[in-house]
Amino acid sequence: MKLLAVLHASQLVTLAGPKRARTGRELSELAIIPDGGMLIRDGGIETVGPSNEIENEAGDAEVIDARGKVVLPGFVDAHTHLVFAGNRLEDFERRARGDSYEQIARAGGGIWSTVEKTRAASEADLLVEAKKHADWFLRGGTTTVESKSGYGLTLEDELKILRVMRRLSKETPLEIVPTFLGAHAVPRKMNADEYVDLVINEMLPQVTSDNLAEFCDVFCERNYFNVEQSRRILNAAKKGGLKLRIHADQLSSSGAARLAAELNATTADHLEKTDEQGIKVLKSGGVQPVLLPGSVYALGSTCYPRAREMIEGGLAVAIATDFNPGSSPTPSMPMILSLACTQMKMSPA
Ligand SMILES: [Zn+2]
Repeated sequence: MKLLAVLHASQLVTLAGPKRARTGRELSELAIIPDGGMLIRDGGIETVGPSNEIENEAGDAEVIDARGKVVLPGFVDAHTHLVFAGNRLEDFERRARGDSYEQIARAGGGIWSTVEKTRAASEADLLVEAKKHADWFLRGGTTTVESKSGYGLTLEDELKILRVMRRLSKETPLEIVPTFLGAHAVPRKMNADEYVDLVINEMLPQVTSDNLAEFCDVFCERNYFNVEQSRRILNAAKKGGLKLRIHADQLSSSGAARLAAELNATTADHLEKTDEQGIKVLKSGGVQPVLLPGSVYALGSTCYPRAREMIEGGLAVAIATDFNPGSSPTPSMPMILSLACTQMKMSPA
């Protein structure tokens, strides 16, 4: 039996409270213990409290003195695209010269260039890259990430990416929550409806029977998948036992927030273009917004989602990195917290 005591943290952030997503005023209640301590037995937290009380129970525990430090739970990053090959430095240079996301995609950059590199990479190569990314997350204090496939766009390549995620979760301290995002883009030389059929009839059944994903996601956006195509995919995923997420209203207000509510999706992500009406609809559908200020920043846009209105509307707002090689190359939750405060007027808590 191994006993560890952490003592004298300037602040011990416990997040004690209801076991559900916080809303409204609860979002600013972090249940902080000043001069806090905790007792950890065999890797599990047994007690938290003021340091003097913990010290009395500590016996011959190994002691970590956390004076001058804040001790808090690991960050949970609810939206990432962690497994891919290569980088998108060329896109970055094009953007700096003034090209838009859509112009870059048409010129052969964007998601498609990462798809080509990811298809060409072996499972072993992808795992090496992914472990490097996992290390970046861990160093930024993140211990759990949601991670999406979506840079394969063929049955074999999507499965390859999801298997890399499974191995990453087993072989590193980072916990991965896997999402199947076969509908991330339409592959070259296919029309969207043909591809939607492939996702529904071939990919989804294999993903669910191999138990490779917990969620299914769709990029519902102009030039990607429209509302009707997204609905077909998400309905099929739901039937297959997957929970739902949706990339919604990032570049245009497409009705995706409404679709998320209609299908009672767990989350609707991005929401840069979601208006007052969309906020009401999300609330009525019990959908949790995941806001991604890192991609607004990296795309050089100033159109941040309406975080404060969402909070005031009773939504359980979450923020995440959207880590990916193109539109948000940061794995750092501290960076995202900073953007949330400075650009979206959220409080540090
Ligand atoms: Zn994304």
